[in-house]
Amino acid sequence: MARGFGLTLDNGVVVDENLEAAPRVAALGDVARFVHASGLDQDHIRVEHWQVAADHAWHLAHRWMGEVATPAVPYFWSDQYGKKIQMLGHPRPDDEVVMVSGSAEEMKWLSLYVRANMVTGFLR
Ligand SMILES: Cc1cc2nc3c(=O)[nH]c(=O)nc-3n(C[C@H](O)[C@H](O)[C@H](O)COP(=O)(O)OP(=O)(O)OC[C@H]3O[C@@H](n4cnc5c(N)ncnc54)[C@H](O)[C@@H]3O)c2cc1C
Repeated sequence: MARGFGLTLDNGVVVDENLEAAPRVAALGDVARFVHASGLDQDHIRVEHWQVAADHAWHLAHRWMGEVATPAVPYFWSDQYGKKIQMLGHPRPDDEVVMVSGSAEEMKWLSLYVRANMVTGFLR
């Protein structure tokens, strides 16, 4: 059905930097494959985390009100087996992990993800 409206479907609804899939048609949250600029390059990514969906809604509302809105850096938290995991950024699986403090054994740590000398994410 979405294709019938002229939307591009490719591992989600492909949207531009304004989250628009077509003029005045937006896709947000889990379903949106959006532009993520890491500082190194640009990817079209889909993120299944609720803070991203909320940030998309905020971003789109501001854009459609004619305001300048900078896309938020993807962020999530999750409570897993008694540990709150928080991640900022969107590292790739092959980015280097640099442990800054703590350790996985202690269940308390801060680590950075690094690619080409740029920090692509924080995990704690
Ligand atoms: C088990 C589980 C655990 C998770 N844990 C975490 C976590 O710890 N941290 C985190 O950040 N994220 C977590 N997530 C992901 C998070 O829930 C999603 O990223 C977030 O809900 C996405 O919001 P959304 O609005 O894009 O989609 P949804 O919340 O899926 O909302 C889509 C809505 O559209 C409705 N809908 C679907 N089809 C139609 C239709 N044809 N017509 C009308 N309505 C329709 C659905 O019923 C639903 O209400 C978890 C998800 C699951 C399933």
